[in-house]
This record gives sequence, C-alpha cells and structure tokens, in this order.
Amino acid sequence: MPILTEPVGSLPRPMKLQEAIASYDRGEITKQQLTAEQDAAARDSIERMEATGTAIVSDGEQRASSFATYPLTDTLAGTGLADNLAADGQYFAIFDDGHHRQLPRLTGGPFRYKTYAADLFSQSKPYATKPMKQAVIAPSMLYLLYPLKDELDGYSREQFLADLCDEAEKDIRKAFEAGAQRVSIDFTEGRLANKRDARNPWTGEDLLQTFIELNNRVIDRFTPEERRNIGIHTCPGGDCDSVHSGEVDYAELLPSMFQMNAGYFLIQLASEGDKERVYQLIGDNIRTDANGVKQVAFVGVIDPLNPKVETPEEVADALVTAARYIPTDQLGATDDCGFSPFSIDVKPKHGSPDFARDIAFRKISSRERGARLASEQLGI
Ligand SMILES: [Zn+2]
Repeated sequence: MPILTEPVGSLPRPMKLQEAIASYDRGEITKQQLTAEQDAAARDSIERMEATGTAIVSDGEQRASSFATYPLTDTLAGTGLADNLAADGQYFAIFDDGHHRQLPRLTGGPFRYKTYAADLFSQSKPYATKPMKQAVIAPSMLYLLYPLKDELDGYSREQFLADLCDEAEKDIRKAFEAGAQRVSIDFTEGRLANKRDARNPWTGEDLLQTFIELNNRVIDRFTPEERRNIGIHTCPGGDCDSVHSGEVDYAELLPSMFQMNAGYFLIQLASEGDKERVYQLIGDNIRTDANGVKQVAFVGVIDPLNPKVETPEEVADALVTAARYIPTDQLGATDDCGFSPFSIDVKPKHGSPDFARDIAFRKISSRERGARLASEQLGI
C-alpha cells in the first residue's frame, strides 16, 4: 500500500473572514453574517484541498476560534464564552517571537463543552466529495483550564477531570457519527510540558505523564478498530509563523507519547534540525501492538510556517530516509502542524493570510506528489 498522507487540519482564515470576526466582536455584524463568511471559507478550503489530490480533507477549521478553544468560545476575543469560564486563565504558550496565547479559567462546575467539533464539521461536510477528517482538542490541553495548584470550591479537580474525559470522549464519538473518517487529537502541549519556562508556570510542573495518562483515560474507551482512526498530533506550536517549544528535545517526549494507545501520530519533523535522529526515535518507540492496534507515524514533510514550498523530490527524499528507521507499513506523511491553528493569524512571514492559503495548497500538493514518488522508489 502506498504511503498514506493526512493533513493536521487548519488553514489560514482569509483576511475577509478575519475582518468579519473582528466586526462580530465589535457587534457590527450578526452571528448569521459571520457564519456566512465561515461557510464561504470552509467551502473554498475543501474545494481547493480536494484539488491538491489529497485523499482526505478538512474544512481548514474555518469555523473554529482555534484548535484549542472551539469547545469554549465562538471567537478568540471571548465572544460567546461558555458557562463557568472567565477570560483570564493560564498562558497556554509563550511563542519565540514574544506573543502569547491565553486560555480561559474555570470558575466552577460542571464543565461542559459549548460546541463539539462535530457541530462545526457537520456544517462543512456537505461541501466535500472526498473523505473528511476532524481534529479535536486533547483533554490534556483543557486540563489547564483548572487552576494549577488550588482546588475550586465545590468542584474538585477529580470531578473536573471526570467531566472533561466524558466531554472529550463525546467530542470524538460525535465527530465519527457525523461522518469523519479520521479524528486526530491536537497535543501541542506535550512537547511544551518539558519546556520549564519560568514565565509560564505549568511548563515547570512535570505534567507530561499526567497528560499521557489523562489522554489514555479517554482513548482507552474506544475499541482497537476505532482507535486505528484516532490519531495524536505533536508539534512545537505554529502560530503567527512562530513556535513555542522547538528547543525541547524530542527524546523527552516521544517515548511517552507512543504510550498513548492511539492508532496513529502526526509528528512535526520537516522543521527539525536532525531529522534522522527523530526518525530513529520514532522507530525505537512506535508500537506494533498498542492494546490491539498497530501504530502508524505520519512524519512531517511540510513546514507550514515557512513560505518556501517544498518540492515533491524533497518530500520523497525525507520519506525514503525515514523508511530506513520506520517500517513502511507504519509510515505516513503529514504537515508539521496546521497551517493556522488560531483564527486570527496574519501569517507574517508570508505577508498575508490569503497568500499563505495559496502557499498552503501548493505545499499540500507537494506532499501528495512526494509521497507517491517515495512509494514508487520504495516499491510499495
Ligand atoms: Zn501543531
């Protein structure tokens, strides 16, 4: 079987949509008008992604406030924030260019998602003629909604985590029920958990193992057959063409990451300095039997933060090299990250989000052609 490919999920929102979101936050347009802009962007995203030749597409997350906050708020500015949340939570991440992204703060229970990924997926699905995937947020990211040290009055951490696991399970099940062929769980906080950044206290609390166990509490509720199509995405972040944890050694993450009983992994790799070392780490740690499922590693062959378009030959070379360390029946190709995980992102290195969209589709096309080329070279 040729090398499989899969996108992470997001695409830059067109400038017109980003302006509509700002107008909505200012109360100048209605929710219906905003939805119409999201609809147009989702349709365009699906049509153009299908035109790249990729076998599985997404709607570019054009309706989501971000990969992490879609269950909680309609816009990043906090319009439509769910119950029991305040805007001033922990920093999720401080990026290398100095900007940061902040999570809401839980003020009480019970914790419930306001929006499930399937609610957004279902609106986009009619535009697709190919199978679609959906990304969901990891429970380990939403763990950070709860105060880092204190207990909330009348709502213990354990009660919160029980509710969170139920909601995360529901998010995944609903996505499959709505017709998603694959569901990947965004786990960008995994690598960040070893950063030990004094400006961002949770990154100094050795939370990686807590995160892994929490995510497995959800993943283990699914059968091996279901888990074949449940993935995990890891990356050092990707926002405003900047990262948050590129300096954290993958050796601190990958052995733990493959302990999650997911069927596949979407792994940032194109922008790594020493790729062969990471291929080897993957080969050493990926499991052929994760409670009944053989894990597949989709290695990143496209850098969504860099406007330079990779050639199919470069993609193929990377995959052929990776195949020296990872069995070909456990090897796939992906992009290092979504092309714009947050809705408001002007893609500064690209010059504009609209140009960045054009670049993204060319890059996806290269990923497809490169994977086919590598499959031919490897004789699979
Ligand atoms: Zn990512």
